[in-house]
This record gives sequence, C-alpha cells and structure tokens, in this order.
Amino acid sequence: MPAPPHRKGVRPIPMAAARPLLRRAVFLDRDGTLNVDLKYISEPGQIELYKGVAQGLRLLASHGFLLVVVSNQSGISRGYYTREAVESIHKRLQEVLAKEGLKIDRFYYCPHAPSDGCSCRKPGIELFNRAAQDLSIHLPSSAIIGDKPLDIEAGRKLGLLTALVRNQAFRVDLDVAGEYSADIDAPSFLAACESISARG
Ligand SMILES: [Mg+2]
Ligand SMILES: [Zn+2]
Repeated sequence: MPAPPHRKGVRPIPMAAARPLLRRAVFLDRDGTLNVDLKYISEPGQIELYKGVAQGLRLLASHGFLLVVVSNQSGISRGYYTREAVESIHKRLQEVLAKEGLKIDRFYYCPHAPSDGCSCRKPGIELFNRAAQDLSIHLPSSAIIGDKPLDIEAGRKLGLLTALVRNQAFRVDLDVAGEYSADIDAPSFLAACESISARG
C-alpha cells in the first residue's frame, strides 16, 4: 500500500502504530471457577472465591494476560435475579480482588436461558468475539478457564488454549465431555493458571 501523502513538516503515523496492539487474554468462567457455584447466585454476599484464585489471577496478570470474565447468567431470564443484581455481584468481586491488588478487565454475561435460543450463551462465542473487539484481544494466543464442558467447547471453537478446573464435587457431565476434553485438566484454579503461564 502506498504511503499516504503528507504535508511537509508533519510526520506521518506509521501504519503499524495506527493499528491497536493486540493483547492476549485469559477468559474466565465465573461460577464454579472463580467462586463457589451455588447454582444461582443472586446477592454479592454469596460470593466466595476458591482458595488460590487471587494467586492464580496475579500470576496470569504478571504474564501480561488481560482478565476477562464470560459468564452464563440464565437466572436473569428465569426471573431469579436481575441484571442489577449481577452488576452488584461483579462490583463485589472487584472489591474483593482490589484488596489483592487485582482487577478483572471486563465482565461479559449472557442473561438468556437455553430456550431463548440466543447466540451469546456459552458454548456460543458471541461474547468472546465482542470482548476481542472491545479489548483488542489476539484470540490465538489467549486461553479459557472453566469448570464445564460448555466452557471448553466455546474455547475450542475460538482456537483458545483450554483449561478445565475440577473445582466442584464430582460431576457426571465432565466425564461425558468427550470431544470437548481440555488441553489442560487441572485440579485447581491455581494449577490451571500455572499451566497456562508455563506455556508462554
Ligand atoms: Mg461454571
Ligand atoms: Zn444470551
């Protein structure tokens, strides 16, 4: 492409500088991955982080990963709680993490139920693509950490490095994951973060 014409004395901006620098991210599932999954969390007071989560997030941040939560919150469509409740839960999460000198770069959530037939509910990839746009994320060098096959399935579709955390009590659905088995099968969130960080 020919360089654009420019007036004498005005330095043109190089093309590379005009393009935003792409960053890598770790996409994080929320319930059952960062915090204990109580099925439908409707109040900030119900947020309880798993042990080692702050340490794991710090490790990822120190390796230059953006931290992006992508979560299915069908409780909104089901009428169990409101969007405002979800926002206040995210605010609480940020407050808890701020005490550790950490912060989630962005939260995304799907408010629909499976029967709504939307494309933002995981394993749909709409929210991930939106995040990639919003935050200039380079997906091929990014990763996902989740506790369910649907997290891994979304990650596979996007070409992410996938990590399954076996945080919760034994779950049948993990053992029928089949083709959606993860690149990293970790016993804890921290172990998943260590594996991801070790790969670059
Ligand atoms: Mg989960
Ligand atoms: Zn949705």
